[in-house]
Amino acid sequence: CGIVGYVGDKEASEFLIDGLRRLEYRGYDSAGIAVFDGERINITKKKGRLANLEAVLKEHPLHGHIGVGHTRWATHGQPSDVNSHPHGDCHNHFVVVHNGIIENYMELKKQLIAKGHIFKSETDSEVVAHLAEELDDGDFFSTIRKVTTRITGTYTLLFMNSDFPDTIICTKKSNPLIIGLGKGENFIASDIPAVINKTRRIFIINDNEIAIVKKDKVSVFDAEGLPVSKKVQEVTWTA
Ligand code: GLU
Repeated sequence: CGIVGYVGDKEASEFLIDGLRRLEYRGYDSAGIAVFDGERINITKKKGRLANLEAVLKEHPLHGHIGVGHTRWATHGQPSDVNSHPHGDCHNHFVVVHNGIIENYMELKKQLIAKGHIFKSETDSEVVAHLAEELDDGDFFSTIRKVTTRITGTYTLLFMNSDFPDTIICTKKSNPLIIGLGKGENFIASDIPAVINKTRRIFIINDNEIAIVKKDKVSVFDAEGLPVSKKVQEVTWTA
């Protein structure tokens, strides 16, 4: 239901939790974050309030400068720790947060299971991580473009890839996605209130656009893979 992402020099988890809190008003049943620690992508997720997740993170902090976060409003699979986002493939090589519904997930899941993928959750979202792993061609952007041609439904999607520890790739269809532009850091969110205390300069991502977000660069492409020149929007209202 709420999505956030961070790339920069600070502790990613701080923005992720703060951003998710700013999206709490939208309602949710579970929350989680994924952070790259320099070696691998670690995921912590919990059913229930954000405070439950924070309690776990207090005991076992996730350190790193790039990460994604999610508050879930379950549509496929009951609210539970394992059905919470983020979701990874078998090795947390690709890690995903998703808002919306992947309509053809059942068909994709059957195909992926037949190829040996082992699923942990009952969600529609987990197929996206496994599909990325299956279609991986070594080029993060090209792989995600292929994923978007195979999934149907509505989505805001953020992807991490342990081979590309400086990059988040995100895309959307019929669900909102914005990128907050910082100095030496960038913020991704499903809605403006998540980033408003960090920056007022944002890109609004349109359907089927794919953004490559690094700490000092944001590049946006259309569905054909051609660069899109985005206009920076200034947010003037206060949250
Ligand atoms: N369909 C996904 C799920 O049930 C995402 C729900 C959401 O938008 O939070 O896990």
